[in-house]
Amino acid sequence: MAIVDKFIGMYGDSPVMKRNAMKVIFRKLRAEDNNYKDIMARLGNEVYISEEEVAKFGFTEAEIYAAIAHELGHVVYATRGWDPDCEQRADSFSAELGLGEFMINIIEKLIYCRRYPRQVSQFVARIHYLQNIANSNREMIG
Ligand SMILES: [Zn+2]
Repeated sequence: MAIVDKFIGMYGDSPVMKRNAMKVIFRKLRAEDNNYKDIMARLGNEVYISEEEVAKFGFTEAEIYAAIAHELGHVVYATRGWDPDCEQRADSFSAELGLGEFMINIIEKLIYCRRYPRQVSQFVARIHYLQNIANSNREMIG
């Protein structure tokens, strides 16, 4: 997938990625296999990307990178989706690559699309968590 190649081109050699060296296989999540209309998913060391669902949300390129980084976070920390702690740890990996603000954009889009009404409070908690990371990074720099 072109977007995965671009992601690897941009972030593959970054210290964060090297420090967390991992073997990941990227695959297309085909519409006919995507019963739950997942945008992306992880199974073991395989990251699945639904081009149809990514297109539906109108994610920018940077937002897609953030989503890919989130899934890599699940690989790095060997966590599953939907548990709040696991989601935040996966988000933190996105933030480590400098994609935290784009991860926030994604979560906002997930809230506004109203597809996941029961997850809204968890989404809000994830946004706050990412904002806290951004604020503490600013303090370290400032
Ligand atoms: Zn996740």
